[in-house]
Amino acid sequence: MQAPDDAEARRAIAPVICYPTEALPAPDPAWLAAAAEDRVPRHALTVPPRDGRAFRVRAGQVFRISCPEGAQVGDLNLWNAHDLAERFFSGKTRALHGTHVGRGDRLWSCLPFLRPMTTIVADSLDWYGIDAHGGGVHDVIGTRCDPYTHRLLSGGDYHHCCHSNLTRALADETGLTLDAAEPHVHDVLNVFMCTGFTRDRNRYFMKASPARQGDCIEFLAEIDLIAALSACPGGDCSATHSSDEATCHPLLVEIFDCALTANHVPPPRNGYDGGHGR
Ligand SMILES: [Zn+2]
Repeated sequence: MQAPDDAEARRAIAPVICYPTEALPAPDPAWLAAAAEDRVPRHALTVPPRDGRAFRVRAGQVFRISCPEGAQVGDLNLWNAHDLAERFFSGKTRALHGTHVGRGDRLWSCLPFLRPMTTIVADSLDWYGIDAHGGGVHDVIGTRCDPYTHRLLSGGDYHHCCHSNLTRALADETGLTLDAAEPHVHDVLNVFMCTGFTRDRNRYFMKASPARQGDCIEFLAEIDLIAALSACPGGDCSATHSSDEATCHPLLVEIFDCALTANHVPPPRNGYDGGHGR
């Protein structure tokens, strides 16, 4: 199609931020710092490579995800522990905070709840920023590797994609059957994954995670949570996923009480009255 005469003028229109977040002030630095104080370890578990595990975190507790042996991408799902219908909303979190999240950002729940499920209180990869390729760490772009897309693009069945790992983990934690658990699995936070959009065609890319042994990210649970974490079969996601080819490492999850735990007040669900104009 022939471009119109004013094509460049149209392209030159300045963008505006879709969701100005001035009404969502960044967490008080003193409050963030308190999440690191008076730590009491309560529970720990290891997520084996190419597998998933679920765990429960009470409101006001902190959970830390780390790479105890080497770079490993983790796919994280979150649910309200008392109502699986309230789950992490990757898309709105992206719209509010950007394509990659870090210290001070929140992970929001789906409609009609739309409240913080966690606040990120520490991130050892905060230094990374956005690299020359447009890549950043901890993205809310990707959805999770899954056996359906794998079959679509490559043929064959692979059973240890993050989608399947999360499904098994949720089923094991809740007693649901796999069929009942699967619809609750949702778009993830890609912990430690380095991703972006190519500069030429805005295609989704991944590159080797900059995480190293000992890197970690910490979340304060704003409400009682069931979380599920998959150690992606892509390992550091430098080349492939949805196969057994990549070198994979475990992920470590540690749950702590902290100085905020005893007095934490969960945020209320969104106040919209649900009228929808009727
Ligand atoms: Zn994956």
